[in-house]
Amino acid sequence: MAEYDAIVVGGGPAGLMAARRLAEGGATTALLDPKAPWEKPCGGGFSPIALTLFPEIGQLRETAREVGRVLLTSAHGVETLLSGGDPYYVLSRLELAQALLKSALAAGASHITERVVSFEREDSGWVVRHTGGIIRGGFLIGADGTSSLVRRRLLGPFERNDLGVAMGHYVRGCSMTEVRVRFERPEGYSYLFPRKDVASLGIGWRASAPGGRRRNARLLARAQAEWAAGAEVLGHYSHPFPTLVSREAWAQTRTGEGWALIGDAAGHVDPVRGEGLVYALWGASLLAEAVLSGRPGAYEEAWRGAFGPNLWRKPPKRWVLTTPGLMGTALLLARPFPKARAALYRRTQHHD
Ligand SMILES: Cc1cc2nc3c(=O)[nH]c(=O)nc-3n(C[C@H](O)[C@H](O)[C@H](O)COP(=O)(O)OP(=O)(O)OC[C@H]3O[C@@H](n4cnc5c(N)ncnc54)[C@H](O)[C@@H]3O)c2cc1C
Repeated sequence: MAEYDAIVVGGGPAGLMAARRLAEGGATTALLDPKAPWEKPCGGGFSPIALTLFPEIGQLRETAREVGRVLLTSAHGVETLLSGGDPYYVLSRLELAQALLKSALAAGASHITERVVSFEREDSGWVVRHTGGIIRGGFLIGADGTSSLVRRRLLGPFERNDLGVAMGHYVRGCSMTEVRVRFERPEGYSYLFPRKDVASLGIGWRASAPGGRRRNARLLARAQAEWAAGAEVLGHYSHPFPTLVSREAWAQTRTGEGWALIGDAAGHVDPVRGEGLVYALWGASLLAEAVLSGRPGAYEEAWRGAFGPNLWRKPPKRWVLTTPGLMGTALLLARPFPKARAALYRRTQHHD
């Protein structure tokens, strides 16, 4: 007999939102995560659609920084300050997780602060072993991030080519007030996301790209010197993230008999903008809806319909952000024209 209707492995935004929505819908739900809530390495950039879709986390506006300008630099060094649309919100991952955990617990979900070490299917559902014992549940949700155990066991790990790595640090005392993204040659980018108290500064690159440790260290040092000279470095991080480029990975079904993947574990990160927070929340809500309706398989069609195209880098609409020469030309031509700058600004955040 299952103790829980649903077991959620991982308490990042995806797992926390799934636990909340399932518990609100009356499902007995266990959420396992030894670290949640925590300050996961992240830029913390939230495009405005996230708060429109999830008004329940609107209170985070008060602590987040509103940023209405993006300084975009093409791989060829063409730089233009873009503005003229809804602001980004740059928030603390700890505060986001705290708010989501509070609402999941209030809805009735149980938080087990243990790490899942293995699981297996039995007739009536799943037996999940964690560092503190065993629990049983009817439906298993993998919300355990890029290195997801659930994904590795049920779908297989991400291929190296479909993975990115970001490395950077939080800095205090940085005077920049706009989001900064500079594309690097031949691959990768440097970024700065200023929050109210600290800024997240780093570089990202495709795990399979040529480059190496020395080049990455040089790029990070340059970003630090140009954007945060004299600022206090608070903590260093390095973290993988999914960035799907292979059609096979994109086409994989993220659900099966009694299980589903959400958030980073599902590869739900925009490979052009590196944005995953909104898709973690969105996918979790869609999955909870499908599970509560008794048709969990409907989740696959639901996420593909809602945001699937945003996770694929190839459509022509995205060429301006994915073709270095085109981006440089667009930035150069847009410089004198506010309307053109606003159109490009919206390209950096709007969903297709
Ligand atoms: C450096 C960096 C910068 C980023 N910047 C942005 C940005 O500015 N905007 C944006 O939208 N996105 C950004 N992203 C992407 C974003 O961070 C992710 O898409 C988002 O965190 C996905 O949420 P999630 O809940 O799926 O996974 P995660 O947030 O990774 O949470 C997974 C959770 O699972 C837990 N876990 C793992 N294994 C187990 C286990 N065996 N048992 C129990 N628990 C487990 C972990 O402790 C963790 O809490 C960035 C990513 C990186 C790496």
